[in-house]
Order: sequence, then structure tokens, then C-alpha cells
Amino acid sequence: QAKGEAKGTWQRYQSDLHTAMVQRLETRAALHEAIDNEQFAVMYQPIVDLGSAETVGMEALVRWQHPTRGLLGPYHFIEAAEESGAIVEIGRWVLCEALREIARMHAAEPDTTLRYVSVNVSARQFRTPGFVDQVREALADSGADPQWLLLEITESLLLRDADQVRNDLGELRALGVRIAIDDFGTGYSSLSYLRQMPVDVLKVDKSFIDDILGSEQQRALVDAIVTLARNLDLAVVAEGIEDEGQRAELIAMGCPYGQGYLFSKPVWPHEIAAGRRSSEEARDLSAA
Ligand code: C2E
Ligand code: MG
Ligand code: MG
Ligand code: MG
Repeated sequence: QAKGEAKGTWQRYQSDLHTAMVQRLETRAALHEAIDNEQFAVMYQPIVDLGSAETVGMEALVRWQHPTRGLLGPYHFIEAAEESGAIVEIGRWVLCEALREIARMHAAEPDTTLRYVSVNVSARQFRTPGFVDQVREALADSGADPQWLLLEITESLLLRDADQVRNDLGELRALGVRIAIDDFGTGYSSLSYLRQMPVDVLKVDKSFIDDILGSEQQRALVDAIVTLARNLDLAVVAEGIEDEGQRAELIAMGCPYGQGYLFSKPVWPHEIAAGRRSSEEARDLSAA
């Protein structure tokens, strides 16, 4: 009997594997059509000044408007897109779309407090030859000021071909574009790259913020990252803030910026509510 049960489990396992594999292959094939059929869309999550809750930026987050499965988040397709290489085309489209959006917003409201759009760049996209030119062209086509763009890269990108990566980051910086390290602290990071790489912003991963109130150890880690950033003259953004307690704790640590469901989930562009700068703030744009 035990043997029969084990066999049943095995067969179920096999068939689950098979289903997962088929779905993956289908997703891969469909992704390429999705680009041609303009099925991708971008939602934006506000990034706020933690003290005032004023929106200072927004992160572009890709969605797939799947004809039968509905609106899909990156969890359902980013991995397949990375594997198939479709991520390069998708990423290029997201970048262009995000820049067009921020340019539209600035045209509609020049005094907006919303100063930048943050765009995720996968390692594979970054390493595609001509990436810097792609950014240059997207900026030119959209008419967006390079200062309105923050590119989010991950720590893993910095591990391989460090010279090439540093060089490209330097070129992007020379354009006026800023660079953030996304999910900071979750990768195989070596702190030495923070000295060597031209980086402007650290985004502290949600997994660190989750238990900031419950665990003294987590609190100490976030506190250390905030202090590190301040000493290196980097800005810090805390991700995944869901309650007031976390916000208060982060403010107490001196963390200036954050994003999370407490302030807003990702929304469509017309739902982004930003304030207007006072003339005083307008004079001091460098404070970002
Ligand atoms: P990420 O860059 O770390 O983005 C933050 C993710 O956390 C988003 O998920 C956002 O909706 C979610 N989030 C924000 N605040 C909260 C919160 O308070 N609670 C919870 N539970 N979640 C929160 P999303 O949109 O599903 O994106 C997941 C990941 O997919 C992103 O993580 C990013 O790594 C990737 N991604 C999204 N858009 C793109 C893109 O255009 N290109 C590339 N290469 N990757 C992308
Ligand atoms: Mg991100
Ligand atoms: Mg992130
Ligand atoms: Mg994250």
C-alpha cells in the first residue's frame, strides 16, 4: 500500500512538473506575440517623502494584459522573459513608456513635486550591447530631462564584468541619469562595490522592512544600511512599508524616502496624486 501511495505521489509530481513546463513554454511563445500586440502596460507606485507623505517619484512596474488570464504581474512572466530574452524588448518598451509618462506629467504640471520615474532594468537588458544608446534615444524621443530618470539595477549585475558595468554606469551618469540598487541587501553583495560603482540611491528590500518592529536584529540591519547610505552620501528608499509603525521607525532612523501599500499600491498614471512645489522648494531642486 505504501508503495502504491508513493507511486501516486510520484505521478502527481511528474504531471505537475509537466504542467509547469508546458505553461512556461506557452508563456515564452506568448510573450513575443504580446510585444507585437501591445499587451504590456505600466503601473506606477508613488515614492514618498516619509515625513510629509508627499510624492517625490514613482516606480514603473510592468503588467501584462493577457487576453485570457487577465492582468498579470511580473511574478507570472518575468522569469520566462529573462530566459527567452524577451525581457530586452519588454524592458526597452517600459523605459520608453515611463519616460513618455513623466514628460507628459511635467508638461501638464511643471511645478509637480514628482521629480522622477524609477525604472527596473534586468541584468540581461543592461548587458545587451547598446543599452546606453537605448537610454539616450528614449530620453531624446520622449523629451524627458535625464534628471527625471532613475534606473534600478540589482547587486548581481555588479558581480560580473565589473569594469564594463562601471563604465556603462559612468556613461549613464554623465547623461544626467541616476542609478539605484534595487532590493539592496538581498544579493551576494560586497560592500566594496559601493565605493567603486557610480551609484546614487539604495532601495532597502521589503524583506528587511517587514519585521522592523518585531525583530531587533532586522531593525539593526536597516539602521546600519541607512547610516551607511548617509555616510556615503547616497539617498535611501525603504520598500514595502505597510503600516504607520514601520514608517515612524524609519523616520526615527533618518530614512528619508519610502514606498509601500501604506501610501499607495501601484496605480494607473491618471491616479497618481502629486502635490505642487512651493516656490521655495522649486528653487532648491538639488535636495532630491
Ligand atoms: P521591485 O522592483 O522590488 O518592486 C517592488 C514590488 O513590491 C512591486 O511588485 C510592488 O507592487 C511591491 N510592493 C510595493 N509596496 C508593497 C507593499 O507595501 N506590500 C507588498 N506586499 N508589496 C509591495 P510587482 O509590481 O509585482 O513587481 C515585482 C518585481 O518585478 C519588481 O520588484 C521588479 O523586480 C520586477 N519588475 C517589475 N517591473 C519590471 C520591469 O519593467 N522590468 C524588470 N526587469 N523587472 C520588473
Ligand atoms: Mg524596483
Ligand atoms: Mg525593489
Ligand atoms: Mg523588492
